[in-house]
Amino acid sequence: MVSEVPLDVLSEDSDTGPAPVVAVVGRPNVGKSTLVNRIIGRRQAVVEDVPGVTRDRVPYDAQWNGRRFTVVDTGGWEPDARDRAAAIAAQAEIAVQTADVVVFVVDVSVGATDVDEAAVKMLRRSHKPVILVANKADNNSLELEAVSLWSLGLGEPHPISALHGRGSGDLLDDILNALPEPPPIVEDGPRGPRRVALVGRPNVGKSSLLNRVSKEERAVVDSVAGTTVDPVDSLVEMDGETWQFVDTAGLRKRVNQASGTEYYASLRTAGAVEAAEVAVVLLDSAETISEQDQRVLTQVVEAGKALVIAFNKWDLVDADRRIYLDKEIERELKRIPWAIRVNISAKTGRAVDKLAPALRRALASWEQRVPTGALNQWLTALTQATPHPVRGGRAPRILFATQAGVAPPRFVLFTTGPLDAGYQRFVERKLREEFGFEGSPIEVSVKPRK
Ligand code: GDP
Ligand code: GDP
Repeated sequence: MVSEVPLDVLSEDSDTGPAPVVAVVGRPNVGKSTLVNRIIGRRQAVVEDVPGVTRDRVPYDAQWNGRRFTVVDTGGWEPDARDRAAAIAAQAEIAVQTADVVVFVVDVSVGATDVDEAAVKMLRRSHKPVILVANKADNNSLELEAVSLWSLGLGEPHPISALHGRGSGDLLDDILNALPEPPPIVEDGPRGPRRVALVGRPNVGKSSLLNRVSKEERAVVDSVAGTTVDPVDSLVEMDGETWQFVDTAGLRKRVNQASGTEYYASLRTAGAVEAAEVAVVLLDSAETISEQDQRVLTQVVEAGKALVIAFNKWDLVDADRRIYLDKEIERELKRIPWAIRVNISAKTGRAVDKLAPALRRALASWEQRVPTGALNQWLTALTQATPHPVRGGRAPRILFATQAGVAPPRFVLFTTGPLDAGYQRFVERKLREEFGFEGSPIEVSVKPRK
């Protein structure tokens, strides 16, 4: 018999869909927090139940058998409760509504009470899958007591001891089974070189830059073990690392470019960006940032790829041009203040060695994951300081947030209703201020409660 179930990270998470939500509800003192602690393997500190400190809807990251989910602890459900208790009960109802699966905890040493029966009615109304937990089944005779909880009409009771770990592995298996279908598992094989797209309008210096990095750093001829490199790509070593510049065949063939219309240029850009993880968008520092430059930048942002802007031909920038350029950057690139910039010259080789570190930084942001606890602590403070503006006497509230995926980072805000576009942008901007994401686009979406 398993008595202690370690719940440490069992495998790298490979899913990038929104993590499903499991809400833990029940009367006060039945052992909800203890159970949540066990589910998350005490990897995060559960908020102490200090009087006056609300413990409503606190979400945590959890993982079992390689499956990630969010577990939401609730303060304790009581019908007909007043004041603070009533507020907590309301929070528990909200948690149930936002959950994919509800874990309903009953204290088996007490048995089902009237309050438990009332909670069952609320759970029925929610039409959510409910897993009935008979907690505090610390020994065999208490485990037998669990049978009496069939009377609640929620199916088979799961006898566990959240305190000692008894039965918690089986419970977690059943929770996983009740979750919505997992996204297809992506094979994680050995990761090949990072894939880089070199893009920009004709004549900004893409071929020159590729030649420069290939020449200075010695082009890698052989393919890298365990990876397939497309013949149209180039493997280049920069800063001690092999990088895969995608779709460079077109860059090498100068004749194509001379005859290429903007339409074909944009198709090539789209293809390269799609195949890449990070894009270097080259701009000609000696010329004004054009609409065509903007379109290339938009292609990268909309494809959700990491972004480094290389101001090429920096050797042509004199003091006067510098002043204009700074103003231009401020005006033309204000929608992407997070992009990483490097000022280089493919011709002289100036600062070309800054490229690899910039790419690494952008990729790190692109794959950054914010722990759910930290995310929600920040969000609570933010929404308290600056709540959503009131519209027609009501203001939607953000209940909690999770990071649904990486590459690029994607966040889901669970709310009581649709948010104003302006407020959503505000949250997005503050999210960047707090957590960075330099060099990567991020996505924030809203999931209003059904
Ligand atoms: P909550 O109010 O539902 O979150 O309950 P807590 O998790 O704070 O637990 C209330 C009390 O029950 C605490 O003193 C726990 O140590 C105790 N408790 C929780 N789970 C068990 C269990 O499985 N067995 C026993 N004997 N006590 C438990
Ligand atoms: P592509 O069309 O983007 O591949 O651009 P190319 O690499 O063919 O460069 C277009 C022109 O700009 C060529 O005449 C290059 O010699 C020139 N060029 C490229 N990089 C630089 C640079 O850093 N400084 C200067 N002064 N000229 C450059």
